[in-house]
Amino acid sequence: MEKELKNFFKKLVESPSPSGFEQPAQEVYRNFVKDYADEVKTDVHGNVIALKKGSGKLKFMVSGHADEIGLMVNYIDEDGFIRFSAIGGIDYSLLPGLRVNIYHGKKMYRGVIGRKPIHLLKPEERNRASKVEDLWIDFGAKDKKDAEKKVSVGDPITFSPGMEMLSREIVTTKATDNKAGVFVAGALLRELKDEKIAVNVYAVASVQEEIGLRGAKTSAFGIDPDVGIAIDVTHATDYPGMNKGLLGDIKLGKGCVLSVGPNINPKVFELLKEAGKKAKVDYQIEAAPRGTGTDANVIQVTRAGVAAGLISIPNRYMHTPNEIISFKDLESAVKLLAEFVRMIDDQTDFIPKV
Ligand SMILES: [Zn+2]
Repeated sequence: MEKELKNFFKKLVESPSPSGFEQPAQEVYRNFVKDYADEVKTDVHGNVIALKKGSGKLKFMVSGHADEIGLMVNYIDEDGFIRFSAIGGIDYSLLPGLRVNIYHGKKMYRGVIGRKPIHLLKPEERNRASKVEDLWIDFGAKDKKDAEKKVSVGDPITFSPGMEMLSREIVTTKATDNKAGVFVAGALLRELKDEKIAVNVYAVASVQEEIGLRGAKTSAFGIDPDVGIAIDVTHATDYPGMNKGLLGDIKLGKGCVLSVGPNINPKVFELLKEAGKKAKVDYQIEAAPRGTGTDANVIQVTRAGVAAGLISIPNRYMHTPNEIISFKDLESAVKLLAEFVRMIDDQTDFIPKV
């Protein structure tokens, strides 16, 4: 991957952005897209919308959610330990022993998630997964008073692992879900740089997906697009314990994933496949027999309905502190989407027909 893009990805994943606290990541997005967009706006909800104008009227929204899962300071006890609650879908059994970052305004503190050591656990405690009540954050405070000089109830907390390459293309970090999607939205505008296009492209870094698809809902209402594609991650099924019969066959490095099903406009799906062929990139197909758990769900049912699509990046170990994706799949998504943009104009009919 080119250096500028790799840097953009690294800055995105390493900037803290639990749902409701996305602005550090949004700042990275704004700085990247400003050279490739005609307009960049941030709405009152915190969504960042970068517009590349086209010659026609058609409006295309492409959206990746900028928020990541995280924790929040809930209570500070007399001894200066932080009790926390989850922002988004957290698996508590993964937490004991992790280092975390606690953000207080512009300040960041490091902490460790504590749990009673295995030697001291009762047999019944050993056999069950940790619950949030069993855990705390130790950030070296002397006592409550000392802790409260540094952090406050409501401060956001993130996992700490930053970006590391496991091989040339395989990258691990926290929050590929879904900085991958924000990356694709931004990199698409860069890919289209200096090109005259017919469609108006609204490349959105949306907020609060992890707590109920909330930013895509407000941004889609505001933009009022004709066609809207969400970019998110999906479960790769190429590692131990994944049931291909239930989850399909999705491999890391075999290209971005196109969803098909009721959440997807049939014409958008056909055009995306055609775009993949034209762009000569690999892509995979995933069955989605109901509304997806992604921003594509709310985009589709905005106002009188939007022609929706969903492109996903295969992801291993979703919602853990070290997710894994392949840069190849990001590149395939960007190239495929750019081709899609070149193929649509005011004449494109998205109404489903036999
Ligand atoms: Zn997620």
